[in-house]
Amino acid sequence: MTTVSRRKFLSRIGAGTALLSVPSITSLSSDFFQGEKKLNIALVGLGYYSEFKLATALQETKHCQLAGIVTGTAAKAEKWKKQYNLSEKNIYNYQTFDRIADNKAIDVVYVALPNSMHHEFVIRAAKAGKHVICEKPMAVSVKECQEMIDACNKAKVKLAIGYRLHSEPYTQEAMRVGQQQVFGKVKIVESSMGFKIGDPTQWRLKKSMAGGGAMMDVGVYAIQAARYSTGEEPLYVTAQEFKTDPVKFKEVDETIFWQLEFPSGAVANSQTTYASSMERLFISAENGWLELRPAFGYGPIKGRTSQGELNLPNVNHQAMQMDDFALCLKENRESPVNGEEGLKDLKVVEAIYKAIATGGKVKI
Ligand code: NAD
Repeated sequence: MTTVSRRKFLSRIGAGTALLSVPSITSLSSDFFQGEKKLNIALVGLGYYSEFKLATALQETKHCQLAGIVTGTAAKAEKWKKQYNLSEKNIYNYQTFDRIADNKAIDVVYVALPNSMHHEFVIRAAKAGKHVICEKPMAVSVKECQEMIDACNKAKVKLAIGYRLHSEPYTQEAMRVGQQQVFGKVKIVESSMGFKIGDPTQWRLKKSMAGGGAMMDVGVYAIQAARYSTGEEPLYVTAQEFKTDPVKFKEVDETIFWQLEFPSGAVANSQTTYASSMERLFISAENGWLELRPAFGYGPIKGRTSQGELNLPNVNHQAMQMDDFALCLKENRESPVNGEEGLKDLKVVEAIYKAIATGGKVKI
């Protein structure tokens, strides 16, 4: 199967798992559907990810482009305006943001703010009639995720989560191997994602801003991986927390190990941490295995199976991700990484925290 046909296949799987009503696309600038005009994206929050990954990726995208910004810092607005030749009318701050409703030159709002702000800004974007991409984790609770989905449905706009790996060829191969049982039924998945966090004053270590620690930030990659490697939703979870620096990690989790049980009997054993670097996905099936290592970072991702090395294209994850969403809008398809996908991961996150608190097995 070629990468392109795999991507189509996976898009279909995603569409099948998310039976949301299909929103209309009337709020898109009509020019987008005439000829090759690119979809116009406004980035909300000009921090690390926007500056060094999204804005740069938007210089490579075929179907969308950087057209606007929303920032609380006037100096950043000035810098970005010059650097990307942005029109003054496409520049907003957090107070003026809602006026974007009247701006036909913006089609999509991309929320790349601290986790606890995703809920508010996705709902404001939806109310302004804009399609939305929201960074991971989708929000800090299942309740917030549901409210964001409801707001987007009500406004008839599409919502995608920034799960860039769904547009990445090695990850797509892992999905194919697991979901199509290329090596037979998946029995065991091991997934781990962590890094050594620096600055002790940053928002990622504040519960009110981050919602949690390593689990919320990068544990979601390991949860996602277990779900897309099996193509199933987990039934039960057990989990264990470890803390080596109770001062730095006073408010949030440092290291968590957890185990998910799937309906087929497959088991995932996963870890996340802010203490050291790790990223690996291992899928063990009846007649073979697949390993990605590194598995979840910006690449190059590397992989191998029980039949040999994988040699797949290395792509710009964010450019592929945003182009995939632009095509979903153009073709009026639901994104395979829609709000339901984000909510399913938050369901698991909440169950993991509950399993730690109770010390027992939790039904998801
Ligand atoms: P960052 O700290 O570099 O940027 C956050 C931005 O939000 C800054 O511009 C900051 O000024 C702004 N902001 C507005 N109000 C704020 C407040 N009250 N406190 C702190 N900052 C405030 O963070 P980042 O690394 O760019 O992460 C932003 C989002 O993107 C997070 O949700 C994160 O999980 C996600 N992210 C995703 C990926 C990925 O690979 N998909 C990678 C990195 C980050």
